Amino acid sequence: MLEQVVIVGAGIGGLRVAERLRRAKYDGSLVLVGSEPHRPYDRPPLSKGFLAGAEPVWLRAEDRWDALDLDLRVGSRADRLDLAAGIVEVGHDRVPFDRLVVATGVRPRTIPDWSGPGVHVLRSLDDAIELRRAMNGSRRLVVIGAGVLGTEVAAAARARGLEVHLVDPQPTPLAVAVPPILGRAVARWHADRGVHLHLGRGVTAVGGDAGPRVTLDDGTELDADLVLVAIGSVPNAEWLVGSGVAVDDGVLTDETMTASDPRVLAIGDVARVRSAAGHRRLEHWDNAVALAGPVARNLLREPADREPIAAVPYFWTDQYDVKVQVLGSVGAADTVLVVDGDPESGSWLALHTDADDRLVGVSGAGSPAAINRCRAALIDGRPVAELLAAAPWTLTGSAGAPRS
Ligand SMILES: Cc1cc2nc3c(=O)[nH]c(=O)nc-3n(C[C@H](O)[C@H](O)[C@H](O)COP(=O)(O)OP(=O)(O)OC[C@H]3O[C@@H](n4cnc5c(N)ncnc54)[C@H](O)[C@@H]3O)c2cc1C
Repeated sequence: MLEQVVIVGAGIGGLRVAERLRRAKYDGSLVLVGSEPHRPYDRPPLSKGFLAGAEPVWLRAEDRWDALDLDLRVGSRADRLDLAAGIVEVGHDRVPFDRLVVATGVRPRTIPDWSGPGVHVLRSLDDAIELRRAMNGSRRLVVIGAGVLGTEVAAAARARGLEVHLVDPQPTPLAVAVPPILGRAVARWHADRGVHLHLGRGVTAVGGDAGPRVTLDDGTELDADLVLVAIGSVPNAEWLVGSGVAVDDGVLTDETMTASDPRVLAIGDVARVRSAAGHRRLEHWDNAVALAGPVARNLLREPADREPIAAVPYFWTDQYDVKVQVLGSVGAADTVLVVDGDPESGSWLALHTDADDRLVGVSGAGSPAAINRCRAALIDGRPVAELLAAAPWTLTGSAGAPRS
């Protein structure tokens, strides 16, 4: 019988597993350990509405915490895992567990020399409070990294009237997440709103005594009041190294989200889950939310009875007034068939296919219902011709690898 479940990481993944355990009638002791000083809050608004002045979005209303019957320890960091003793060390406390959930997320990747006054990163509510405060007195922002985070902050800063420079070594924004045809559209939206794009340009130095200065690899020097470094992230898994739980760019799990020790499961940004295509780590909000129920159910089962958890990746990003939605395993090398609208207009629907003309993903803006309807076809990996024959779409454009 399980007497105590410990969840480390009080973000959305950790909290949702706790809620799902109670919903599944687990009535033992539940401990949720979070290193941040706040109760769990929602991260996506931090690069969007929060920078425009909105309040934080709390993940559970104040008056609903008692019902969860949870030992919530905010401002507490798990430092070490002692598997043999079945204990997590949290400061001076030794917290025993029968099952442990690792939900510790990621933190911003940093470069030691890229620091100093005026240089920011964005992951936590405290980071966002500092960035928002700094924006108040600033005229010029340089964003290093044109991924989802960097482009969203660039958009939010333009809306607040700052002069914005966006720098990335890739030729298009969001280059890791989406194919160039979509990246070019994102570049256009930013250019149209007055963002100065420095694409295909690396950064050689950040710093300076009289406010931060960003030096590019062609010698350009960008003086700023404020710099945001948004160059990716690192899993918070160091506290597990040497514990016996296998860690390699995140916590390695099998298809049931069980780590190398059957008492330990992982969820969210920190989990690197085995699939047919190899181990994969996803940094998407939906990935933490949608898998919380299946992870809670597997935790309550004997290891031999646990079920594989299949997820269809999904993320969205808000760029000005465009909400981009991406479903499936979309990548830079996809062939993209635009079946409605046009990405540059900010309204489109596109099917993404692999070299065998199988559907691997769907992207769009302004077509949430159509995107959702493609979910079943994605799970089945249906040939795209079948989908096109069954839907009222005609090809309005295509891009990507040549189709034979
Ligand atoms: C600014 C921003 C905007 C985003 N926007 C989008 C978006 O538009 N669309 C989208 O799909 N995704 C978005 N994401 C990603 C999404 O927020 C994450 O995928 C999601 O928050 C992951 O949840 P998680 O529970 O795995 O990790 P987290 O939310 O990071 O929670 C992990 C928690 O564990 C804590 N922790 C770490 N180490 C320890 C330790 N040793 N002991 C105790 N606690 C620890 C951390 O401090 C953190 O509070 C965004 C992320 C950010 C930062």
